[in-house]
Amino acid sequence: MFVSKLLAANLFFCIGFINLMPIAICCDFDGTITLMDTGKALLSNLTKEDWQAVDKFVIDGSIGTREALIKQWGMIEYTTWKEIFTIVDTMKIDPSFYDFYSWVLQKNIKFFILSDGFQKYINRILENHEIEAESLDILANDVNLVDNRLKLSFNTSACDHGCANCKYSHVLKLKNEGYKIIYIGDGLSDILPAAELADIIYAKNNEDLAKKLEGDNRLQVFDSFSEIKEDIVKRIL
Ligand SMILES: [Mg+2]
Ligand SMILES: [Zn+2]
Repeated sequence: MFVSKLLAANLFFCIGFINLMPIAICCDFDGTITLMDTGKALLSNLTKEDWQAVDKFVIDGSIGTREALIKQWGMIEYTTWKEIFTIVDTMKIDPSFYDFYSWVLQKNIKFFILSDGFQKYINRILENHEIEAESLDILANDVNLVDNRLKLSFNTSACDHGCANCKYSHVLKLKNEGYKIIYIGDGLSDILPAAELADIIYAKNNEDLAKKLEGDNRLQVFDSFSEIKEDIVKRIL
């Protein structure tokens, strides 16, 4: 009797994660929804300084992304919106994201974009691809131009991890509200929230997140959103 109850409970948990627990998908933007990282494209075009060297300090843990972004975007001595948007307008999104996102809407699954990038270019890239940015929950940093220099404003206040936008705190809030977390990402700012809080992790093939979490049994490596949808359907719905 006891054993069969135990078996039933296990079975319930396996199938049940699942249909009964609410699910929230937390998804990075740059290099995950977009094919290239917009921030990297902008920095490569707008400064000749060695902004990549700063990423190495983030990787070795000596600085957080907040300090990194201040250093890197501070390397741009003069720019204009025209110059910025000319580069932003070359960004493409994963073509299978459309189908994935309409499926998420249809299934009524909570979907958040968590980004260490800037709201202005995220909105513009989405609108360029005929996705209404207003309809999405986007938690990102933002930027303004003051005397032709970039002035950043961060989505969250300073945290112990030194994050620019603390993705960890956004995911933790959802987890505490009882959501099972599906995390989709590619880069350095995704490692902490995915590793600490996610139930399932989709990491872009061959990028920092996938490399860092290699061997983790929650990890699935992906190249396109069609693979993610297929996998979620198989596991959960
Ligand atoms: Mg990214
Ligand atoms: Zn943080």
